Amino acid sequence: MQQSVFEQIQSGGHEQIVFCQDKHTGLNAIIAIHNTTLGPALGGTRMWNYASHQDGLTDAIRLSRGMTYKAAISGLNLGGGKAVIIGDASKLKSETLWRRYGKFVDSLNGKYITAEDVNTNAKDMEYIGMETKHVTGKPEYLGGSGDPSPFTAYGVYMGMKAAAKKAFGSDSLSGKKVVVQGAGNVGQYIIGYLVKDGAEISVCDINSEKLKQTVSKFPGVQVVDGNTIFDMEMDIYAPCALGATLTTESIAKLKAPIVAGCANNQLADEDIHGPMLKDKGIIYVPDFLINAGGLINISVELDGYNTDRANSMVEKIYNRTNEIFDLCDAENIHAQAAAMRLAEKRIHDIGLLKKVL
Ligand code: NAD
Repeated sequence: MQQSVFEQIQSGGHEQIVFCQDKHTGLNAIIAIHNTTLGPALGGTRMWNYASHQDGLTDAIRLSRGMTYKAAISGLNLGGGKAVIIGDASKLKSETLWRRYGKFVDSLNGKYITAEDVNTNAKDMEYIGMETKHVTGKPEYLGGSGDPSPFTAYGVYMGMKAAAKKAFGSDSLSGKKVVVQGAGNVGQYIIGYLVKDGAEISVCDINSEKLKQTVSKFPGVQVVDGNTIFDMEMDIYAPCALGATLTTESIAKLKAPIVAGCANNQLADEDIHGPMLKDKGIIYVPDFLINAGGLINISVELDGYNTDRANSMVEKIYNRTNEIFDLCDAENIHAQAAAMRLAEKRIHDIGLLKKVL
């Protein structure tokens, strides 16, 4: 049975959900603030033509919770939030809509900071920024951080190297067989790092144009059929397309000792597929840890953007991945559970500290 709105808010542990409506611009937005213990809730605004308002709400609730964990595990003083604007991005976008939305964001007085996400971009953030200072991911010509994908990719590369060290005793990816599923914005940059390291790369994508682009940029990369990747021998499976590719069926077939990629929500069911990977001896780098580079990058913009600082913060994903592996070994738990435990502990401890001070 479908939960009521308030039951959904309560069961997700959310602090606040804000509904925003403006008939002149056609704006229907939902801002979900999950947890602000560590700081203001930062998370992008997604524009999507949801089948129903309920679907939009469910997405905002689910995604904002994920942002709390991502910020916490990354050591950021930020909480988790996310917003959705319900509608067709090709028809709905206008300066006035973004500025009206910016006023709603501003009315939250910094409790929520917005950024770009699916179907929103740096230009949209520029319009939002005309009405509120609580926006990040603005264009480079405004002192913003621009495209987050290279930073997300760098973090994934760091997580992969930490996993390789654990599996093979060396963090060099030279000669390692890596299958990249999804040659999109982030996938392309990941392939760039892997090529430099001398990895043997196979790539699949449902978009043939992306594959053509990849092969012309990186001629040594081999294109494979996406339907066959779970039958292939490989050292690293890198899910870089959609979520939920780690299912009971795919894990049973998977021949890679490492899973490390940028996709969000890679485990179809955390409680089933986290333990299943562990039982099979597969080293998994939790998605919200390994793909936090983009979030880390836009968080740097809040204090005045600096690329070197962003890169050195993203690089720490290597050490954090090692910490997760150590906790897995010490407690005999799977990697997703270990990463969630560390994130929750940080929120709990800083929450207590704030009460004392
Ligand atoms: P993108 O849309 O640029 O790339 C995704 C690619 O996957 C596309 O080329 C698409 O054609 C391909 N694809 C879709 N379904 C596929 C399938 N079944 N098999 C093979 N390929 C398929 O997106 P992106 O920005 O590169 O992000 C990729 C993933 O990483 C997403 O899950 C996203 O949520 C996550 N992520 C991205 C960032 C970022 O900085 N862009 C940050 C964190 C997480």
